[in-house]
Amino acid sequence: MVCALSLAKYSIGVGDRFAHQGKAQLQACKMALEQGVEVIPVWNKSNREHSIIGSTPADTRAEADQAVQALGWDKPYHADADHINLKTLDKFIEACDFFTIDVADLIGRPCEASALRRFVEAHSELLADLAVPGVCQPFRIGRAFLAQVANKYLAAVQEAARVYQRVEEEKGRGQFITEVSMDETDSPQTPAELLIILAAVADQGIPIQTIAPKFSGRFDKGVDYEGDVAKFSREFSDDVAVVAYAARRYGLPSCLKLSVHSGSDKFSLYGPIHQTLQRFNAGVHLKTAGTTWLEELIGLAEAGGAGLDLAKEIYAEAYAQRQDLCAPYAAVVNIDPARLPEPELLARWGAEQFVSALRHDPNCPAYNSSFRQLLHVAFKVAARMGNRYLDLLSAMETTIAGNVTGNLFDRHIKPLFIG
Ligand SMILES: [Zn+2]
Repeated sequence: MVCALSLAKYSIGVGDRFAHQGKAQLQACKMALEQGVEVIPVWNKSNREHSIIGSTPADTRAEADQAVQALGWDKPYHADADHINLKTLDKFIEACDFFTIDVADLIGRPCEASALRRFVEAHSELLADLAVPGVCQPFRIGRAFLAQVANKYLAAVQEAARVYQRVEEEKGRGQFITEVSMDETDSPQTPAELLIILAAVADQGIPIQTIAPKFSGRFDKGVDYEGDVAKFSREFSDDVAVVAYAARRYGLPSCLKLSVHSGSDKFSLYGPIHQTLQRFNAGVHLKTAGTTWLEELIGLAEAGGAGLDLAKEIYAEAYAQRQDLCAPYAAVVNIDPARLPEPELLARWGAEQFVSALRHDPNCPAYNSSFRQLLHVAFKVAARMGNRYLDLLSAMETTIAGNVTGNLFDRHIKPLFIG
């Protein structure tokens, strides 16, 4: 399949809750370019985020356009309708050129018996011992396993095709980038399952450019990976090999690559991912937008005065509402209540103490991952403050921008894409 609009080898899902850090984020991509590495920015924001903040996809597009113009960025950039489905896609059609079709909810829904039979019959190539270049052990996908995996994922892939068709009708073939995401589910997909899923995606005629599987281990919001890094590395490497193989074997777009929905800041995985990409000469899309808002808080606190006061006020409110704020993210936050400072105690903290507890520097003894995670899910509190929050963002732009750019470049782009 050929796509008129295709995603570059390296791309990063940026974006921010309050749409104030477009330039500061793009600056990090510019710094990568100055070092000879092209990392294409994709502004992403999900329907859930838009409804909490009260923003629209057009706002995100405007933010991206303005940043691009201000910085003279002459490379591609995209706006991603993140985690959409048939119910939510309409409002994204006009402003976006990248669609992340989320079908995780349909995983495990049995498909029609006739479709299942057709799929298994059409894919006898998957049944023999299958040597995928770059994977150590050949896959042994028996008929029963093939049917079982197809039964688990076929309905989800069929739904992805329906969403894709709807977008295609509106935007035209080849005019947008398609991602299929299956990460927001309970159990990870193995490399063999990924291969079967991609065969089904090809059958459905979806010109998929990125696929977001669920990987092994915990991908909690805003903190580092929890799990077996060596196991992840093997799995990621096999997935990269499978993606390259499936693209050739099933005629999917040659730019097809993995999308890592990181939940932000999976620092301990960046080294292994970088090495695998080098080994396979492969690309990747990394979604890591969520912590820009924490860099805003860090910048506000660092600026002191009214900025620090507001950061403390946001924490105090978040602390009071911690149950409600964490509930929607129960599966992806891991907060130790005993590690959350009492707001009365925090009121006496200076800027440095606040910043070093919040900033994601795992080697800093003052870093407090529980404090960080609570604030990460507390953007609703700042959203409710409206202009009180936004005006301070503008007033303290310089301090904040330095943190946003530095975070994105030094902690993400450099280790992952530049090495
Ligand atoms: Zn995701």
